Amino acid sequence: MQSLHYFDNAATTAPSPSVLEEYCRVARDYPGNPSAHHSLGLESKALLEECRARIAKCLSVEPSNLFFTSGATESINIVMASLLWAKKPGEVIISSLEHEAVSAWSGILKDKGWNIKTLSAKGGYVKAEDLEKLLTKETRLVAVMRVSNVLGTVQDISSLVEVTRAKEKEFGRPIFFFSDSVQALGKVELELDVDGASFSAHKIHGPRGVGLLYLRKGMIQALSQAGGQEKGVRGGTENLPAIAAFTVAVEEACKNYEANREKVEKMNHSVREALKDSKVKVLTPVENSSPYILTVATPLPSEVAIRMLQDRGFLLSAGSACSNNARGKAEAVFRNSGFANDAGGAIRISFSHLNSEEEALSLAQNLKELI
Ligand code: PLP
Repeated sequence: MQSLHYFDNAATTAPSPSVLEEYCRVARDYPGNPSAHHSLGLESKALLEECRARIAKCLSVEPSNLFFTSGATESINIVMASLLWAKKPGEVIISSLEHEAVSAWSGILKDKGWNIKTLSAKGGYVKAEDLEKLLTKETRLVAVMRVSNVLGTVQDISSLVEVTRAKEKEFGRPIFFFSDSVQALGKVELELDVDGASFSAHKIHGPRGVGLLYLRKGMIQALSQAGGQEKGVRGGTENLPAIAAFTVAVEEACKNYEANREKVEKMNHSVREALKDSKVKVLTPVENSSPYILTVATPLPSEVAIRMLQDRGFLLSAGSACSNNARGKAEAVFRNSGFANDAGGAIRISFSHLNSEEEALSLAQNLKELI
């Protein structure tokens, strides 16, 4: 059988052996519901809080700022849906890079009378001065992702937060700054200077179906109602085995951050070098980008190139995995970022520390050959 070379790690990653072990251990040894008051429940509750504290330590935040969810999509939806409690609609600023889980709210909020402003991202970057011009006293929320899942570009979130805070002062009203940070965790420097952020376990070799919502000011009013778990921010019985396994994944990503990054940076550099003087155009800039994502464009339609690469044992996506379901979504990101001519031929190479230099070079060679 042909061996497979997996370069779709921005879509999902394989759980690490210790993550799987922890999942099984907790599923077996912690049968109690963390909300139950008997001894098994208390043991589960203690482990749940231990996990929250361990992740908080890795992220340099307080445990009380972290809420477990079923994944980044739910974390995002908790924040966006909370706007529907507002007594009257206001204004929301959404960057043109956002994942479908955020951008889909444009239509919903517009229907409810909200004014939606799009923050442009030429070349894959949002500018603080552009945000400054869009902020008004009606602005209730700004959403800018930290690392683009389509292009790999890293936003200067601190400068965006800074102009938002200045405007807050000027208007005397709070503006919630939300940053989807899924592709940042364990991969780029992450300072949680925002009001809210979303994370997902399965992008960092954790299990699927578990994620985090970071909330700086503690509470927001969730739309979904349940049994009061996660202080009412996310109700429903906590998925303790997945949360414990996620905790191991976060700790591994935190501990191996430098080593993993060094390895991936080297692979990224080698592929860039190998593609020089070829018909493959590299779209992801070298500076201010995550080394984990390298998006390129070939003269072939994306689907054709991806299919041909798969026949050679290389698994990749065009733009993002979700864009396979929401057609045109990744294309919109390319178009909005000034890469309209390259959108049809774009391929996203997304690395993990489990890839080898050899297979990365072989991918570049195969890409050149098939074109
Ligand atoms: N945001 C970004 C940037 C993503 O890449 C993804 C993954 O597809 C998500 C959100 C959704 O994450 P999840 O699969 O945990 O719902």
